[in-house]
Amino acid sequence: MCGIIGYCSTNSRNARKIVIEGLKKMEYRGYDSWGIGIKAGNSISVEKKVGSISDADQKSELDCNYAIGHTRWATHGKVTEENAHPHLSYNGNICVVHNGIIENYRELKKELQEKNYEFKSDTDTEVIPHLIEEHYRKTNDFQTSVKKASECFRGNYAFIAMCNDFEGLIGVKNGAPLLIGYEKEESFITSDVVAFIERTKKVTYLDDNEMVVLG
Ligand code: GLU
Repeated sequence: MCGIIGYCSTNSRNARKIVIEGLKKMEYRGYDSWGIGIKAGNSISVEKKVGSISDADQKSELDCNYAIGHTRWATHGKVTEENAHPHLSYNGNICVVHNGIIENYRELKKELQEKNYEFKSDTDTEVIPHLIEEHYRKTNDFQTSVKKASECFRGNYAFIAMCNDFEGLIGVKNGAPLLIGYEKEESFITSDVVAFIERTKKVTYLDDNEMVVLG
């Protein structure tokens, strides 16, 4: 079982640190690699590694109020840095962490490759950011694009998506756990309440086929 977490704040610039702390709390679930994606201004950057989250640089001064993170338990593709999450869309503007399995990823990948989307990993996950980008190109609306892409996925999964020009995070749940926590100026989304329970006790568990926008 892997863990996913997203954090947004209207005030704190410590999103990276808070997401790393959350991933550490979920370590007991087991994982083979980890990664985080942060949004600073309009630019998204990703760091990912095979091995222990305790190797993460806690002193990084990166200033950001949105971040997502992942501890992976590989189901599709070997345990490598390329296959670790987050995964980016083709244009690099959409960033996704995912728990579970997209069962129909082969068909979706083939369709996207025919449209010249280039895949960098062997995961099922990578179809998620690419398909969201494909819808975004047509709609120019992140929320609608996540919804439209989600309607195409089969399987048990939960994912969190972030976009360079969207102020917030979007989570989708279908068969894998996903819940949110909130305070006045910050909100959390995660697969396991241990990730943030020390920061808020206001928690809502999502239902299957639910999509939530945090921001
Ligand atoms: N199926 C995805 C992968 O192999 C996600 C696995 C997980 O839940 O950690 O990367």
